[in-house]
Parts: sequence; structure tokens; C-alpha cells
Amino acid sequence: MSDTAHSSLMPTYRRLPVAFERGEGAWLFDAAGERYLDGLSGIAVCGLGHAPPALAQALAAQARTLLHCSNLYGIPLAETLAARLCELTGMRRAFFCNSGTEANEAAIKLARRHGHARGVAEPQIVVFEGAFHGRTLAALAATGNAAAQAGFEPLPTGFLRVPFGDAEAVATLAATRQDVVAVLVEPVQGEGGIRIPDAGFLPALRRLCDAHGWLLMCDEIQTGMGRSGRWLASQHGGIVPDVVTLAKALGNGVPIGACLAAGAAAETLGPGSHGSTFGGNPLACRAALTVLEQIEAQELTARAAVLGGRIAGHLHAAFADHPGVVEIRHLGLLIGVELAHPAPSLPTRALAERVLLNVTAERVVRLLPPLTLTDAEADELAHRVIRSIEGVLAPTAAGAAPTAVPGVAR
Ligand SMILES: *Cc1c(COP(=O)(O)O)cnc(C)c1O
Repeated sequence: MSDTAHSSLMPTYRRLPVAFERGEGAWLFDAAGERYLDGLSGIAVCGLGHAPPALAQALAAQARTLLHCSNLYGIPLAETLAARLCELTGMRRAFFCNSGTEANEAAIKLARRHGHARGVAEPQIVVFEGAFHGRTLAALAATGNAAAQAGFEPLPTGFLRVPFGDAEAVATLAATRQDVVAVLVEPVQGEGGIRIPDAGFLPALRRLCDAHGWLLMCDEIQTGMGRSGRWLASQHGGIVPDVVTLAKALGNGVPIGACLAAGAAAETLGPGSHGSTFGGNPLACRAALTVLEQIEAQELTARAAVLGGRIAGHLHAAFADHPGVVEIRHLGLLIGVELAHPAPSLPTRALAERVLLNVTAERVVRLLPPLTLTDAEADELAHRVIRSIEGVLAPTAAGAAPTAVPGVAR
């Protein structure tokens, strides 16, 4: 599994030494039947947990009815999904694609058209340090991570980068440049380390965008679909963006992305200006509609807020005064534990505790568990994560050999 030398897959991921055959709720099972508690949901994808019965049933029914027919024809399920998403987010129209990076690509193209329509020849989009917007070339150029960009130059231009959370720096751009047309921002930076800006940040961006005719574009690919405790994390700031991108949890594992737009932005992309063969096909739309239904029926946005507080409470109790822990942050079930030092071995050590977690931005332990956890599962998750973190924080006794990284076997 981790033996890349014998794999036929390009080694674009450093894979952990475990593979899963089956999932049920918050649990994943390996080939030996050993079960792991999922604190990551396939990176914020499986908000409803694994193999939710309602989704399995809807997908099977749709597979027997119609998988795909092309955007050359009407797709009633896409119309219904677009209307539902717009209702929940305050947007007017949706464009469907197959991933997060494609949703951002659509937003970037939309912003450039918006700029050209206003007579800006080389439109610029404001982006932030530490941002993650995806891996296609334009989304990669918008991403604030030099390591992810290295070796892929020349990258598309048209992005101006400022520190995350710094509305003053954006105001300075507004005062000094005439070619800015949009701001692209994650309401909470996910890959950047669960970085939560001050409450005034998004409202300040909204005011700047309004004052200068820019589009406020929120990348809610990781933060959206109820995970933050609201449908969109930007709703915590009491603002409505002009453009919202969604993917990850939208299909609970069935690939689908969406670029939603309001007002003039919703009228920017006309016939022939953008497209996707698979985007918004009946299977993906049926999946997303079922996800929306389930989030509402199980009241999972409110539940995410409660669960986030519960798990963060355990983490605070364990690590409040620990010198190895810098800060514990959470907004709903976007949870980050910032360590004082990098912890590259932590995800592997956590396997020994039979829990899945992730380390991002080198030293931020990231938890993105399913929104469907029971209270008991949330407590169990917190305790397994705490034991895993304690394992990497524990000072090595003088003279003792460093603890071997545990493998999968106990
Ligand atoms: C995951 C992610 C993306 C990219 O989505 P893909 O589906 O992997 O292309 C973009 N933006 C944010 C904030 C993300 O978390």
C-alpha cells in the first residue's frame, strides 16, 4: 500500500499504511475487519458519514433511471438542485462541475469577465497568504503555498496576494490600483491550518467590494454544507457574497462542484463561455439533493455546532496548559490544534489508536469528522485524538531511544 516503488499509481500522495474496504457511519474497516474512527471524513467530504443508506438508495435508483445525458438538454435535477442551493445561500444561479478546483476556476473566469465588462484589460483578483484553492493552474496560482506551486511555472498571472485577515492591506490595494475586480477568500482557511479570521474581516471585505464594484467570492469548498454550524461559514459574518464555490461535502463522495453567483455576477457567463461534460449530470445532482435533504432532516448544521463545542471542550481540557500546544481553534466541526513543533509522524501514530486525523500547515492537527457523530462517538474521537497527540508531545526520557513509530499492527 505504502510501497510506491511497486505501485502503478503516480506517487502524488504519501499514503499511510492502511487501506479501507468498507465504511459505516463514522467508522472505516480495513481488510482484516479492524475498525477506525474517522476524524477526517475523506477531507471534509463525507459529512453524512460513510455509506449513508438514504444516499445509497437514491444513487441506485438514479443509476437505474438516468446517469448522464449532457448539458445540451434540460436536466430537471440540476434545475432543482440549483434552486435549492440558491435558496440556502442567497445566490441567484449555479454552474455545476466536478470538483472544488473546477468550481474556483469557474469563479476566476467569471471574475475576469466581470472585469472586462467594466473595461479592465488585465483584471486582478485579490487572494491571501496561506490560501488553498485547488490544483488546476489558475486555482494553483491563487493558492498561497509556494511548495504546491514549485515546478509548475509559468503560472497564470492576475492575482494579488495579501496577508490573511488583513482588511487594511486590501484597502491599500483599493486605494492604489484600478485593475482589481474581485476578492477570493476562504471564510476559514482549511489547508492553511483552520485559521479563523477576526469577526470583522469578512464584513470589511464586503464593504470594500461594495465600494469599488468588486466581487466578493467565498471559497466554501471545505467550510460549506453545514460543517461550520451554518450552511456557509460566511453566514457567521452576517454577509452575503457575490460568488460562492462548493464541492467536497456537496455529494458526500460523489464528485460534484458548484459555482454559485448572485446579482450581476449571476449574468456574467453566457452560452458558450464555460462548460463541463459531466457537470450537473443527473447522478451527481441526485446525490447532492439527497445530501441537502439529509442535512435538513437530521438538522446537521446545528448538530455540527454542538459537536464542535463538545470535541473542542475535551481538547481544551487536555491541552490548555500544555507547552507543546499553541492554540486550539474551532468553528463547528472545523477543528485545529496548533502544535509548537511539526508533527509529521502523528497521522501514522494515530492509526495505532485506530483514529484518522490529518496534520496540515506542518503543525496543525486538523479534525473534520462527520456531522452525524453521536455524542459517544464524539467523546471517543476526542479521547483517541488526545492520546495520539500526547504520543508525539511526550518528552523522550533522557538516554532513551525515541519511541518507534507504531505500525498498523498492535
Ligand atoms: C479541497 C479544496 C479545494 C479543491 O477541491 P478539489 O475537489 O480537490 O479540487 C479548493 N478550495 C478549498 C478551500 C478546499 O478545501
